[in-house]
Amino acid sequence: MPFYTYDDVLRISKLIQEIPCEVSEELRGWNWHTPPLLSAHTVQINVSDLSFSCQTGRLAFLRYKMNVKERDDERLHFGAFIHKVISMITSNVKSLLYNSTPQSGGELYEKMIKRMEDILAVQDLPAIYIKTFKVLWNRAALTYSSSLDKTLELSKYLSIDGLVSRVVPWICEFPLDGRLLGLNRAVRIDALVPPTLIIEFKTRKPNRSAEVALAAYALIFECLYKIPVNHAVILYIEFGADASSFKTYEKVLRIDDSLRLEFVEKRDLYASKASLDVDPGLSADCDPYCPYLSVCRNGG
Ligand code: SF4
Repeated sequence: MPFYTYDDVLRISKLIQEIPCEVSEELRGWNWHTPPLLSAHTVQINVSDLSFSCQTGRLAFLRYKMNVKERDDERLHFGAFIHKVISMITSNVKSLLYNSTPQSGGELYEKMIKRMEDILAVQDLPAIYIKTFKVLWNRAALTYSSSLDKTLELSKYLSIDGLVSRVVPWICEFPLDGRLLGLNRAVRIDALVPPTLIIEFKTRKPNRSAEVALAAYALIFECLYKIPVNHAVILYIEFGADASSFKTYEKVLRIDDSLRLEFVEKRDLYASKASLDVDPGLSADCDPYCPYLSVCRNGG
């Protein structure tokens, strides 16, 4: 990890089978047009806003009503960079498999390292970002080259499409339209393994708000595709201070009634504060990663 192979997908499928999850019919995404899922507001909230905890909803008031720009935060920048690199690696390995058809894992590994060097040669990144980039890229090269060897052992006669989907089973930044649920039209899931395994990468400490945001993705998926999504995965990625290594923690979540209701409550709070002219005031306990911390707490 963090790069999932076919074996990881089988492992998670087995885990999910061992975690039963009952969901009430009215809380399925396809029932977006009736309460409690029906959104009473016209404003469309970003799913990423739900991943921050702001008890008064001031975050939504600042962003949508006052159009206040969020302040630069190096930790959020670094997290976004990791997301971008994982997505970039995924599309590059798929493109190498489609276009240069490596005949062995060793050949894919060499091509991936060469591609990494070519990309880095035209980037102007701080040293710590370059290190992070290389660490992730190396791990992906090892993972996918081994995955290619295993797939080739299975059969030499797979179609290229079948082979690529077996070596790299996920689609990064899978797009969804969240408008029917009062959410943004350009929602993107970090990774989707067809048909329904949703995976979100997180570089912040585990928290309930990340789980609420994950429920939002599951509900949108149900709303659009009419397929139940009872579980999803958060993959926490934690880099050491010098970025020379990282740890991953996987959490398989039930998207159960209580999480779905928390989503509804938070979406409605944020949407109502975004729709009114009244400042809801400061939250008693601000999210340490909130992008408006310097606005609310330092006089901005
Ligand atoms: S800093 Fe606190 S009050 Fe302001 S938006 Fe963030 S969580 Fe809400």
